[in-house]
Amino acid sequence: MDTNETRTISIRHIPLGFCILSIAAFLVGWGGSVLFDAVSAVEEESLPVTTPVQMRPWRYIVVHHSGAMVGNAEIIESGHLQQGMENGMAYHFLIGNGTARLGDGAVVEGHRWKSQLQGGHSHQDLLNESGIGICLVGDFGRKGPTNQQIQSLAGLIFRLQTQFQIPDDNIHGHGRFYGEDTDCPGKLFPWTNIWSTINAIYQK
Ligand SMILES: [Zn+2]
Repeated sequence: MDTNETRTISIRHIPLGFCILSIAAFLVGWGGSVLFDAVSAVEEESLPVTTPVQMRPWRYIVVHHSGAMVGNAEIIESGHLQQGMENGMAYHFLIGNGTARLGDGAVVEGHRWKSQLQGGHSHQDLLNESGIGICLVGDFGRKGPTNQQIQSLAGLIFRLQTQFQIPDDNIHGHGRFYGEDTDCPGKLFPWTNIWSTINAIYQK
């Protein structure tokens, strides 16, 4: 016998009295939880299937300056795209200095962080693949970062260091990493101040 036919027949043959009893039970609350579970299950099944982004096993934090006094994520993104970087902004995070409509101390999560892609911020593959690139807008060879940038950087490093268990020895300015050969993030970059701010967060 055709199974569809069986189902149709059985539904048609549900006694009217049973239906009335079921509705009555629902109205007084007996069937409420069962109905709720059924609806939840349907909603869960009909949600679009999205694959959660798998975090990369980050081992380093590499701090950069943008080398320009004015900047925001869109400016850096288009510059890096023009340089042939298909994933756009080479850094994972950008911290604004209050220019180009990006707030002083505002933290932007770049596409490479959201999609957990390797960076394009260092010369060596190892640092790009396992180093989180954080860039602060500014030219710290000429003028140091703002207090807001320092606060935001310290907070971001604290969060990332804690989440990925990155040791202090693996967190440096770009040029401190062996083999990178650059003065980025500039001679006025205040590491002592940043570490004391990070330590103050740890002690809270
Ligand atoms: Zn750099």
